Amino acid sequence: MHTEQQDLFDKQPAPWELDAAQTQAVASVVFAAGPEKPFDYRVPEALSGQVEPGRRLHVPFGRAGRIVVGYCVRLETRQQLRPLKDVADVIDHRPLLSPAMLRLTEWMADYYMCPWATVLEAVLPAGVRSSAGTRRATLLSVPTRVAARLTELKLPKKQHDILRYLAASPRPLTPTQLAAAQKCTTGPIQELRKKGLIEAVKGQSTLAAPPRVQVNREQHLEMNADQLAALAAIRQSLDAREHRTILMHGITGSGKTEVYIQAIAEVISYGRQAIVLVPEISLTPQTQERFRSRFERVAVLHSHLTDVERHQHWQEIARGEVQVIVGARSAVFAPTPHLGLIVLDEEHEGSFKQDSAPRYHARDVALFRAAAENVPVVLGSATPSLESWHRAQQGQYQLVSLPRRVFDRPLPIVGTIDLRNEYQSRRSRGAIGRQLQLAIEEALREQGQVILLLNRRGFSTHIQCPACGKVVKCPNCELALTHHKPGEMAICHMCEFEQPAPRQCPDCDFVGIQYAGLGTQRLEAEVRARFPDVTCLRMDTDTMQAPGSHERALAKFRSGEVKILLGTQMIAKGLDFPNVTLVGVINADTALHLPDFRAAERTFQLVTQVAGRTGRGAKGGRVLVQTFSPEHPAIQAAVKHDFEMFASDELPIRDALSYPPYASMVRMVMRGPSEPATHEFAKHLAGLLQLSIAKFEPTARVLGPAPCPMAKLRGLYRFHLQLHGPNLVGICAAVREATANLQQPDEIQWIVDVDPLEML
Ligand code: ADP
Ligand code: ZN
Repeated sequence: MHTEQQDLFDKQPAPWELDAAQTQAVASVVFAAGPEKPFDYRVPEALSGQVEPGRRLHVPFGRAGRIVVGYCVRLETRQQLRPLKDVADVIDHRPLLSPAMLRLTEWMADYYMCPWATVLEAVLPAGVRSSAGTRRATLLSVPTRVAARLTELKLPKKQHDILRYLAASPRPLTPTQLAAAQKCTTGPIQELRKKGLIEAVKGQSTLAAPPRVQVNREQHLEMNADQLAALAAIRQSLDAREHRTILMHGITGSGKTEVYIQAIAEVISYGRQAIVLVPEISLTPQTQERFRSRFERVAVLHSHLTDVERHQHWQEIARGEVQVIVGARSAVFAPTPHLGLIVLDEEHEGSFKQDSAPRYHARDVALFRAAAENVPVVLGSATPSLESWHRAQQGQYQLVSLPRRVFDRPLPIVGTIDLRNEYQSRRSRGAIGRQLQLAIEEALREQGQVILLLNRRGFSTHIQCPACGKVVKCPNCELALTHHKPGEMAICHMCEFEQPAPRQCPDCDFVGIQYAGLGTQRLEAEVRARFPDVTCLRMDTDTMQAPGSHERALAKFRSGEVKILLGTQMIAKGLDFPNVTLVGVINADTALHLPDFRAAERTFQLVTQVAGRTGRGAKGGRVLVQTFSPEHPAIQAAVKHDFEMFASDELPIRDALSYPPYASMVRMVMRGPSEPATHEFAKHLAGLLQLSIAKFEPTARVLGPAPCPMAKLRGLYRFHLQLHGPNLVGICAAVREATANLQQPDEIQWIVDVDPLEML
C-alpha cells in the first residue's frame, strides 16, 4: 500500500535528522464513499490500544473536518513530520476482520481493481456493520479473581447461583438476560455489583445464537471405490496440512456430495471448520438436510436471511461454534477462526461471480483464501469450467474422477430430435414434437415423472407485425418485449418495462399482429391441453417469486402429486428425484447462438445437467433433446455425456482466438444517455488503453469499442472494450494507468470487469 502522505514523507529529511520523540502511532483509513486511497491519521494517546486494523473509526475529513466513518486497514508506529489529524473515535469494540481476512480484501481490491472499502463493505454483511439486533447495554461478567475463589464465598444461595451462572457463561450478559436466565429480579444482581463481585462495562450486547434446526441424524454412507479414491486424495492434502486444489470431475449422480461430507467430517474431527459453496439455486431444503443430518452445527447462509439473522450467524461462526457453513457466493467470507477446507460444488456455475463491484469470482477468492490459510480446496462438477479443466490438465490442480454413477446405475440414453424435420413434415404443431409426445405418454403410463426444460420465460418471446415487419420493443432496452399471458402484458425481461400487449401493429395499424416464439407460459398451456388429466407445474422466476415457493413446488414434485415439471434452467440443476424417467429439452439452441464465446460451453453444461436429472432410480431414464443443430459439437458431446470430448473440441477454438483459459481478459463497459457521446468517450478510453498496453503489455490486444450485444439497457447506450493477453498483471497495470486521471462527462459511467463471465 502506498499512501499520498507517504509520498510526502519520502521527500522529507533523512531519518537521522529526526527526533525519536516524533515517533507516533499512525492509522491508515479507507472510506466507502469518497477517495479511493487510504488516508493517514494520528492515534491520540487516549485511543491507543483501541485503534487497530479491521475496526472502523470516526475520523475528521476534508477542510471542514466533518466526522466520517472509515475502516482502519493498517497501524504503524513511525516518525511523522507533517502533522496529521487525530482519529476522533473508535466504533467497533473488536476487529470485524482478522488480519488474514483483511489481507484477502486487500488482494481482492487489487485484483479486481475495486476500491478497498467497497470490498470491505461486500465482505462484511450489512447486518454486521449495523450491529443488527444488538444495542449499547450494560454487560456483566465475573472478574477472574472472583471466579477463582467462587466456592469460598459466603453468599445467600440466590446470589451464589447467579454468580456461578455468570462465571460459566461464555460471554457477558446484560442484567435483564441474567435475571431472566436465573428467574430472579435484578435486586440480587445489584447486591453482587455493590460487593464488587460482578463487573459491569458499557458495550454492545451480544446476540443469542440462531435457533438450531432439528433433523434426524444419519450415518455416513458406505462409499464405493471411486468415492474412496477421491476422499483419499483430499485426505492426503488435509494430512499434509498444505494448500492444494482438487478438481473432482464426477458425472451427475456419481455421489460427489458424499465425498464432500466425509472429507468435512475429517476436518471437523480435528477442530476445524469447513465452508461449502453452492449456487444459490441449489440451497434447497434437500441440500440443507443432507448436511444437517450429518453434522451437529451447520449454518446455512441463504439470501432470505434478515440482517439480524445474518449477524447472529456471523457471530456464531466467528466464535468458532459452527462446524460447517453452507452458502452461496458470499459464504466464502465466513469468519471461521480455524478454516480447514473449502468446497465449491458446481464450480462451473456463473452465479459464483458477482455482477456488481467488487466483481469477484467466489472460486478465485476461495483459492486465494485457502492458499493463505494453507488448506485444500475441492472444486466439484459434472461439467467443470474449461478454466479449471485446463489447470488440471496443466497439473496445477489435482484431478480426481468419479466416472460412474452410484450402484453403477446407467446414465440415461440421450436422443436428439431434429427440429428441422419436425418442422418440415408438419406432423406436429407447437413446442412438443411427435416423438417427445409419445415418450411423455409412455413415461406417464409407466408411473414415471417428466421434466421439460425450456430456457425462456413468458408466453411468446416476440410480437411482430407480418405486414410491416415491426417487432415491438422496449423503449429503454431495444429488446423485443415478451408477451405474458396473465393480464395480457408485453414485458421487457431486462428492465421490467411493461405495457398492454398490442392488438394491432403500433406502426401500420395492421390488425393481424403475431405473437411468435415460445416461452414457458405457452409451453405450460400446451402441456395442459395435451395432457388434461395430468398435474403439471411451471417453475420460472415468474411463478417462483413468493418466498418458499421454490421449496413448495419441489415438495409437490417429490411427493408425486405433480407429474410433469416444466421450467427454465431453475429445474436443470442439482435436483435428485429417483422417479424422473424422462427429461425433454424443448429447444437446446436457445443459448447456442448468443454472441458470447462461452455460448457452446453453457449449452453443453445445461443439456448435460438437465439430462442428469433422470435415471437416478431403479427405473432408469431417458432424455430427448429437440434441436435445430443436432450436429453441433456441444450437443453431440452432451448426448454422449462426454465432457472430455467437449473440452477437446472447444479448447483449440479458445486457444486459436486467445480466449480464456489460454489468455486473460478484462472487459470495460461504458454507458450513458447519449449514444454519440458514450461512443466518443469509449474511443477516447480505447486510445489511452492502446498507449498503456504498448508500454506495459505489448503482446495484449485491445478490442473495440463496439456496441455491447445489449446495446441499450434501461435507457442507457452501452459500449464495451475487451483486453486479451497472456498476462493479466500487465493488462491490469495498463488499465490502471489509462484510467488514473480519466475525465469523463458526468452522465457517463464505466466499469471494469476482470475475468468477465458476462459478455452481453
Ligand atoms: P452428485 O452430486 O454427484 O450428482 P449425489 O451426491 O447427489 O451425486 O448422489 C446421488 C445419490 O446417490 C444421492 O441420493 C446419494 O445419497 C446417493 N449416494 C451417494 N453415494 C452413495 C453410496 N456410496 N452409497 C449409496 N448411495 C449413495
Ligand atoms: Zn427494457
